[in-house]
Amino acid sequence: MKVAIVTGASRGIGRACAIKLGQAGYTVVINYASNDAKANEVLDIIKQNGGDGMLYKANVANYDEVKEMVKTVFDTYKQIDLLVNNAGIVRDEPLIGLNKENLDMCFDLNVKGYFYCAKEVALKMARKRSGVIINMSSVSGTFSLPGQTVYSATKGAVNQFTRTLAKEMGSRGIRVNAVAPGFIETDMIDTLSDEKKAEYLKVIPLKRFGTGDDIANLVVALASDQMSYITGQIITLDGGLSL
Ligand code: NAP
Repeated sequence: MKVAIVTGASRGIGRACAIKLGQAGYTVVINYASNDAKANEVLDIIKQNGGDGMLYKANVANYDEVKEMVKTVFDTYKQIDLLVNNAGIVRDEPLIGLNKENLDMCFDLNVKGYFYCAKEVALKMARKRSGVIINMSSVSGTFSLPGQTVYSATKGAVNQFTRTLAKEMGSRGIRVNAVAPGFIETDMIDTLSDEKKAEYLKVIPLKRFGTGDDIANLVVALASDQMSYITGQIITLDGGLSL
C-alpha cells in the first residue's frame, strides 16, 4: 500500500489527481478547504473504483492545521509516500491596483502552504528514506501575462523551491518535481471571459484547453517508480502554449 496526500482535491486538478491515484492503488487523503459535498464525491468515486482514502478538511495556508493533518494521516496509516502540493488560488489584478489582502492570500497558500506541507511530510519520508513530492506550478511561473505579477511570482517561487528542495532531499531518497500546467478546464479558468478564452485558444497549438485528467496522468507517472531518476524538474503540460 502507498499513501498519497493531495491538497485541494475536492475540485479541478486536485480532484482528477486524487481519482487517478486511487485507480493506481494509492490510499488517498483528500484535502480541501470548505466544499464538503465535492470532497465526499471524490472519496465516493475512489471507493466505487475499488480504492480507499479519507477526507481531511484543512486550510493548508495555516501551519498548525497542516501539522495536525500530517500527524493524523501518519497516525492512521503509519506512512506517507506521496504529497501533491496542489491547492492554489489566482487573484489577477494590475500592480497599481494591488489589494494587499489578495497578495497575502496568494503567497500564504501558493507558496507558504507548499512549504508547510512539504516540511511536515518530508520529516516522515526522510525517516523511511523514500518519498515523492509533486508541486503544482504553472506556465505562469516562467512566462508572463499582464495582471499576473502576484500569481507568477508565487509560481516562480514554487519552481525554485522545487529545484532547491530536490537537491536538499535527494540523498534522503526523496524526489521533488513540479508540474506546470497551461490553461486547464477547472473552476479557476471559468472566470475568464469567452473573448479571452477564444484569444488563448488561438495560441495553443493543440487547439484545446487541458483537462484535469491530462495533469493527473502526468502526476501518476511522475510519482511512480518508473520515474525514479527524475528529480528537480519543472515539467510543462500546456498543449504547446509556451513554445
Ligand atoms: P480550483 O478548481 O479552483 O480548485 C481549488 C482547490 O483548492 C479546491 O479543492 C479547493 O477546496 C482547494 N483549496 C482552496 N483554498 C484552499 C486552502 N486554503 N486549503 C486547502 N485547500 C484549498 O483550482 P485548479 O484550477 O484545480 O488549480 C489547482 C492548482 O493548479 C493550483 O495550484 C493552480 O495554481 C494550478 N494551476 C491551474 C491552472 C488552470 O488552468 N486551472 C493552470 C496552471 C496551474 P474547496 O473546494 O473546499 O474550495
